[in-house]
Amino acid sequence: MLSGHASGRTGFMLVRRKLVERLRAQGIRDARVLAAFEAVPRHDLVPEVLWGQAYKDTALPIGEGQTISAPGVVATMSAALGLTGPECVLEIGTGSGYQAAILSRLATRVISIERIPELARSARAALAALEVRNVEFHLGDGTCGRPEDAPYEGIVVTAGGPEVPRPLLEQLSLGGRLVGPFGPRDAQQLLRIRRTGASSYTQEVLGRCDFVDLVGRNGWLP
Ligand code: SAM
Repeated sequence: MLSGHASGRTGFMLVRRKLVERLRAQGIRDARVLAAFEAVPRHDLVPEVLWGQAYKDTALPIGEGQTISAPGVVATMSAALGLTGPECVLEIGTGSGYQAAILSRLATRVISIERIPELARSARAALAALEVRNVEFHLGDGTCGRPEDAPYEGIVVTAGGPEVPRPLLEQLSLGGRLVGPFGPRDAQQLLRIRRTGASSYTQEVLGRCDFVDLVGRNGWLP
């Protein structure tokens, strides 16, 4: 049973293994994704008072009115990107840094954009402490993407926007996948979009979801 400091690293490792069993039972099959969840210490990315809940399948507050997404959601989104290792991935919404730390084990290069300076700063520090070296942090409006590093084989949007930002679609590589929550606030859908040509895309609905707002020029107005 998890109980903050008392459990220590070994305790957290055991709880992480249980989390992985739950993710497998929920249908996550990608062995690399499951290994990433076993390796990344989610408790190190949430306030210490929440360590006791760190491995529950629930979103948790991380300050600034934002949340770290539930592990099941992060796993679904990570698996949906279909990464094999050599990819460059763009994440919109660094938040706690948890999704970025998971992606760091699935792709070669991860570029993560956050609009709230305090969150960007603490995620950068937390991932440095975890010796994650292939994540680059940027402060700004992720709804515009980051054209200077495009194209991306994967883009993951971790906040909910009214529609898929056009710049992000344009920054996908041919065959690249974008996964994220879009639609009205009370009826968000988790979408996977695949670029199939210069201006053609396919779209799949992966399920219903409930994310904090994607705020920006191509998202909700601040
Ligand atoms: N990936 C995060 C994690 O693992 O903790 C999830 C964080 S939370 C669900 C969504 C984040 O998106 C928040 O930190 C929020 O500030 C950020 N966000 C919202 N709109 C954004 C934008 N236009 N550009 C960059 N970040 C944005």
